[in-house]
Amino acid sequence: NPLKSAEFLISAARAAQFPDEDSPEVAFAGRSNAGKSSAINRLTEQKNLARTSKTPGRTQLINFFQLANGARLVDLPGYGFAKVPPAVKEKWARLIDSYLQKRPQLAGIIHIMDVRHPMKPFDEQMLAFASQIDCPIHILMTKADKLKRGQQARQLQIVRNALGEAASVQLFSAENGQGLEEARSIVAGWLKT
Ligand code: GDP
Repeated sequence: NPLKSAEFLISAARAAQFPDEDSPEVAFAGRSNAGKSSAINRLTEQKNLARTSKTPGRTQLINFFQLANGARLVDLPGYGFAKVPPAVKEKWARLIDSYLQKRPQLAGIIHIMDVRHPMKPFDEQMLAFASQIDCPIHILMTKADKLKRGQQARQLQIVRNALGEAASVQLFSAENGQGLEEARSIVAGWLKT
């Protein structure tokens, strides 16, 4: 697993702090609490690489992780803490936007959605961002272990129908490892690791 070599590199609060070498990157996005940190930790086989974040303050940073070959995983701040004031939400949107607009080395976006609550407005916004910059997007419908197989298949079909050609999508569980190999091979393929 090439992702296992991931090490924390830097947290950025603004574009000037983004690492500037031209290494390929895969960004992880999702609503707060969707399961993004758990997915990153599972993919990298590291228990605490991405902090499972419960505090709105931490959501304002972009965290960069470096792999042995120089490629990077990028943890974009989660969206959707209800109590966050509008000014903070705006800052968040600007930070994400500055990342997505200024990363020619962005090889793909892994977008995390809770299998039980897919395709919320933020998810649509992220898909729109990705299509604007012509970046491939792969969706992990995570927490699949929370649903029976039949329900999982139904949710997957709903999202596939909604997406059409816009993104690829799979079921995933950080809890029991469902879909892990498929997700890893997508990330590794984008990063050519
Ligand atoms: P983040 O805010 O998107 O980074 O979400 P976290 O990774 O912190 O996860 C939010 C909550 O969902 C935590 O309580 C996790 O333990 C739980 N969780 C995350 N992934 C899974 C999963 O695949 N299955 C189950 N059952 N729970 C999960």
